[in-house]
Amino acid sequence: MNFSKLPLTKEMLQTIDSLGYKEMTAIQAQALPAILQGGDVVAQAKTGSGKTATFGIGLLHHLDVKKFRVQSLVLCPTRELANQVAKELRRIARFTHNIKILMLTGGESFGKQLASLEHQAHIIVGTPGRILKHLNKGSLELSNLKTLIFDEADRMLDMGFIEEIESVLAFVPKERQTLLFSATYDEEILEISKKIQNNALHVKTTEQEVANKITHKFYKTENKIETLIKIFATYQPTNVIIFTNTKLQAKELAASLVQNKIDALAIHGDLEQYERNDVLVQFANKSTPVLVATDVAARGLDIKELSMVVNYDLPHTQETYIHRVGRTGRAGAEGVAITLYSAYEIEKVQPYEADEKYQFLDEEILQKEPDFEMKPEYVTLVIEGGKKDKIRAGDILGALTGDAGLQGASIGKIDIYDRQSYVAIENRYIDEAYKKLKNGKIKNKKFSVWIL
Ligand code: ADP
Ligand code: MG
Repeated sequence: MNFSKLPLTKEMLQTIDSLGYKEMTAIQAQALPAILQGGDVVAQAKTGSGKTATFGIGLLHHLDVKKFRVQSLVLCPTRELANQVAKELRRIARFTHNIKILMLTGGESFGKQLASLEHQAHIIVGTPGRILKHLNKGSLELSNLKTLIFDEADRMLDMGFIEEIESVLAFVPKERQTLLFSATYDEEILEISKKIQNNALHVKTTEQEVANKITHKFYKTENKIETLIKIFATYQPTNVIIFTNTKLQAKELAASLVQNKIDALAIHGDLEQYERNDVLVQFANKSTPVLVATDVAARGLDIKELSMVVNYDLPHTQETYIHRVGRTGRAGAEGVAITLYSAYEIEKVQPYEADEKYQFLDEEILQKEPDFEMKPEYVTLVIEGGKKDKIRAGDILGALTGDAGLQGASIGKIDIYDRQSYVAIENRYIDEAYKKLKNGKIKNKKFSVWIL
């Protein structure tokens, strides 16, 4: 299970070590040997099992950095997922000099992407629609492609990307390595594999993996929001994702929770890209303890240490259930998955059989705490400057802590994007931090600052 058993370069082993990966996960151990040999693979493993690093290590292994052409393409179902994959790839590539990874997704300026493409890239991560647009325009050229990867392939299929995918395939060399990654494994994936892969090795690790340590608790209730608040008061989770089946429900539930002193934000397909980003950043940096999400909006996000997942509505399929609850109890931590159902939904919970991991509980055991509140630990400051202004986390930290400023401990996560940066500040220091950044300079320049 040791990475050093693989024929990897010294830099790669060093990177893996610096990321703190002590041993391979099951999917890595089973898929990487074949991937490194250049074979096609269909890999199925549960959420949080390190699939991104599996293909990341694989594609970097085959990459010729000196050849400045697109050699790997990773297709993802959503922008958020593409963003997360690109981030993880950058981490894995950090000791390999001069690698250029470019993200091409919808919802971003096409013109800017054109300009970036003119400077070439080694690796493209993106969503099928936008990639196809560039291919049709001729702004993206894939004749040097070596590795083609479909992440969350099952999801791409049920989001109806198949036609776009087929069109993309017309632009890539026949001679290539194709890798399919998925958390579920079904007929459709196998069909696709037959169409687009050659002699693919099938690796499925679900059974052998140590199951996520998740306790599944089902509560029957006639008043979901009241029960939900009692659940929060009883289990005191630090961060929670609540899933609803529709965008409208997500919006409404977040609003009702806020009215009930539970700080919550909603993420769903109606938000603009920048709004989605604001929400995701605030959830990840602990500026909001509760995120209400639809399945599509939350797909693939790897937020560490999620203490609870709630199914406010029962999902339509068991696969969706697995995807939702797979976000808690990651990497060995304990997680709780709560499902609320009404008398009308009894049929839908029948597939989940009671045992020690699946508990059907009575609402009566929950605590009633009339003054219960959930408030965030941090508040997020936005700085109108980012990578393009050469801002690094250290510069922001310096601006906040310099000249008898804040203590480092009162500053939380810092996220730097191209044109914006976000910094989490402990609640009680927010005014001080705001003043300090507003009146001060970062890298000798003034930037607009506001509180999210
Ligand atoms: P998946 O795509 O399978 O849902 P991710 O690729 O998002 O999962 O990985 C989940 C987390 O596990 C990430 O934070 C990643 O950095 C971490 N990870 C990946 N490989 C290893 C490893 N070998 N050891 C420890 N952590 C790992
Ligand atoms: Mg993944």
